[in-house]
Amino acid sequence: MRPQILFPLFAATSSLPGVGPRNAKLFEKLAGEHVADLLWHLPVGIIDRRFAPQVMQAPEGAICTLTLRIHKHKPPHNPRLPYKVTASDDSGFIELVFFHAREDWLRRALPEGETRVVSGKVERFQDKPQMTHPDHIGTLDELASLQTVEPVYGLTAGLAPKVVRKSIRAALAKVPDMPEWLDPALKQRRGWPDFKPALLAVHSPESEADLQLGTLPRLRLAYDELLANQLALSVIRSRYRKQAGRPMKGDGKLRQALLKALPFTLTGAQVRSIAEIEGEMAAPTRMLRLLQGDVGSGKTVVALFAMLNAAECGAQAAIMAPTEILARQHHATIAPLAERIGLTIALLTGREKGRARDAALAGLADGSISLVVGTHALFQEGVAFGDLALAVIDEQHRFGVHQRLELAAKGRGADVLVMTATPIPRTLALTVYGDMEVSRLDEKPPGRKPIDTRAVPLERLDEVVDAVARAIQTGNKVYWVCPLVEESELIDLAAATERHALLEKRFGKRVGLVHGKMKGADKDAAMERFAGGDMDVLVATTVIEVGVDVPAASVMVVEHAERFGLAQLHQLRGRVGRGEKPSSCLLLYVKPLTEAAKARLNIMRETEDGFRIAEEDLRLRGAGELLGTRQSGLPEFRVADLAFHGELLGVARDDAKLIIGRDVELESPRGRALRNLLYLFERDTAIKLLKSG
Ligand code: ADP
Ligand code: MG
Repeated sequence: MRPQILFPLFAATSSLPGVGPRNAKLFEKLAGEHVADLLWHLPVGIIDRRFAPQVMQAPEGAICTLTLRIHKHKPPHNPRLPYKVTASDDSGFIELVFFHAREDWLRRALPEGETRVVSGKVERFQDKPQMTHPDHIGTLDELASLQTVEPVYGLTAGLAPKVVRKSIRAALAKVPDMPEWLDPALKQRRGWPDFKPALLAVHSPESEADLQLGTLPRLRLAYDELLANQLALSVIRSRYRKQAGRPMKGDGKLRQALLKALPFTLTGAQVRSIAEIEGEMAAPTRMLRLLQGDVGSGKTVVALFAMLNAAECGAQAAIMAPTEILARQHHATIAPLAERIGLTIALLTGREKGRARDAALAGLADGSISLVVGTHALFQEGVAFGDLALAVIDEQHRFGVHQRLELAAKGRGADVLVMTATPIPRTLALTVYGDMEVSRLDEKPPGRKPIDTRAVPLERLDEVVDAVARAIQTGNKVYWVCPLVEESELIDLAAATERHALLEKRFGKRVGLVHGKMKGADKDAAMERFAGGDMDVLVATTVIEVGVDVPAASVMVVEHAERFGLAQLHQLRGRVGRGEKPSSCLLLYVKPLTEAAKARLNIMRETEDGFRIAEEDLRLRGAGELLGTRQSGLPEFRVADLAFHGELLGVARDDAKLIIGRDVELESPRGRALRNLLYLFERDTAIKLLKSG
């Protein structure tokens, strides 16, 4: 249960004065649905209204707060002309200008013959001072409250700056006094303020310097957020570790058979990772390990060895993929290998129906099926395992922490191996996985050739199509990925369909199309035609549709490459260069390129090193271009900026470890305070695992 003192913060934004249902929708778009979400919507600039010159001394273009006598209203004869009000101070006259004004409102706000304070930008029109639509109009009593530095917030269409500011101020007023959750020594050493004053301070910048990421209040809040993240992961991990594991050490028969059946020899990195995994499986504690390896580094085989270890012990192992296609691909890779050593591997996705599904469910429940590949359908209710000992999760960033645990919960002290394709930098890995053991596939299978990567402006589309024609003639296959346009799948689809039509005109029926709106079976059919002999070009809408292994594919065309994040481009490119032939990647872009987009394309041309690309990705994100966390699957931080606050993450990790080491249920006074922190940053999954009360 959320502590009562936080209730007001977790009420809907419509509980704030002046926020109706319409605005609540807009606020949800801007920041979130709860009052608390507004707290993390930090100012991006300031407007200094402290400058209060005389009219004649007011420089053109400056924001000024003027105290004026109101003289005369001059409503226009024609409603399309501006409404003017003349006013003055001792130095001279100024005209206040309004378009589409409502006369009754203006006459009330600026009564003739009285004194009013206005604040806004002073301009000159035909050499006379004027102010168009003052930002504020107030009485003399309100001078002090107008003559301040005002925070500027990011907006969304339909929300006026004033409304946003007022609502955020109202949200801040609802922040209760809470007991300190930080370690007093750390707080003192760093000179950090208390939580509430820190929050108020970041929302009341007095200068540009106050907006920086390195101010003490901002650092404190960033640390709070990172601590919440690390603490949540620690809670989950400690809960996970508390269940006794079981030593898994098979006799090696199946694994030896597999080794013989493989059409290649394992790389050194694969051998090492398999040994690390086997070592941890053999231990009596539960395994929680990350297998990190670039696309094409051969993670699937490593996973299979671990699964066979479980099978040798008479237990079951499951591998879960983020999409239907990937699950089927894993199945297609693993099933023939497994068959050769006399094992069957079941497939369970949302699409298995009827008898096949019943048979799989029965086999899993009675333990007669020892290996299974599937999608999230694997951890749905109604799926029971006889004895699940290992859950492998091929996540490509798609699963949340709790989903990983849900699958593991189907077993008795089951080990968990998480496979990830993006070589995330250490700092980021910490935010997603906390302190997990890591095995790294830092070596690619031999014989991979470098991929010739070029950036080409879209105007040269004809040349690209010619190049594709040449590639096809020499027996190559081509992926053609179409842009991700905003959130609309329909627009994506239109672009891909159009491209498909154009290519079909040139290449006839040997061009296929897969997109997110297709039925699973149709997608599979298209993929199979591409992987088999009768399709040369595959047009695809989204990244994941091409997350598959077709060794004959050697050309990757990415349209509107400037819209993709680095991690995605790297993933896409990783789909080629798997076969014997030299491969190429053509990044088609549309001008003008932003600086960040230019940098991304350059990095892609310079390197294929996934780690370097991941580091650059982080750096570029830090440079302010939002690539969207949904694309990357990384947790979203609202106050912390990892490119800047990365150092604090390590501190938070150690802090979290200590806290959980001493007070695993968060029941001490500091533990209770920390629960508030977890709620504030909405790490609810972790809280659910704590004893209530
Ligand atoms: P990942 O999942 O890491 O992207 P996969 O496991 O899908 O990579 O492997 C990519 C391709 O490389 C597959 O076709 C696989 O059979 C092949 N492969 C894996 N290990 C080796 C190896 N040691 N030598 C040669 N080919 C390998
Ligand atoms: Mg894979």
